Amino acid sequence: MRKLLINIFLIFPISIYSQTFTGRIIQIIDGDAFLFQTDDSTFAVHMYGIDAPDIGQTFVDQTIAHMESYLWNDAEIMLKKDINQEGISAILFIDGTNINKELVKNGYAWYNKLHTNDAELARAEMHARENKLGLWISDSPTPPWDFRNGILAKPPPTDGEHNVLICTNPKKDDYYHKGYCKELLRCHSNVIVISREQAKELQMKPCKYCYKKNSRKKK
Ligand SMILES: [Zn+2]
Repeated sequence: MRKLLINIFLIFPISIYSQTFTGRIIQIIDGDAFLFQTDDSTFAVHMYGIDAPDIGQTFVDQTIAHMESYLWNDAEIMLKKDINQEGISAILFIDGTNINKELVKNGYAWYNKLHTNDAELARAEMHARENKLGLWISDSPTPPWDFRNGILAKPPPTDGEHNVLICTNPKKDDYYHKGYCKELLRCHSNVIVISREQAKELQMKPCKYCYKKNSRKKK
């Protein structure tokens, strides 16, 4: 996945924001991310300004099922700058409808007010809350960022053997590391120790570099 993310920045090295691309969603990664295919490229897209329930949270199945209903439709994405997201952040449009806003308005996702300042998304979330739509059927649903922090708050096990290093504020499809791997130099927040089980709960995967070091040396 990371390779795909890097590719698009090689393809569009100058200012890419506000540009639109037409194509289709070919795979749902999670409630707020998907693989997008244009005529000449395929890349992972994170939906700008929203945060969908994580795997393990209530309502995640409904959000993913809803996103799957858009698979293979003609779609358009508009790239947006999001300092919190590595890779591509965008607004998804289907038949001219802003799907990021629709997800929030119908209670399929939160407006990510921690990292975005967007009055339209804030109003959309207010609408969902007031009408108890989707995840707002619950009085105080746990936002995904609190859910992730809750997992991270658990102390790592005392036997160090199963501990791994991660960059805080992990994203799904992110990687955990064996030690101070060079990939962690890209981390813009803190590097912390958690257990491998916690990393897996966060849907993280073993790093492609440090977990394959031994096999490389054999060459
Ligand atoms: Zn690594």
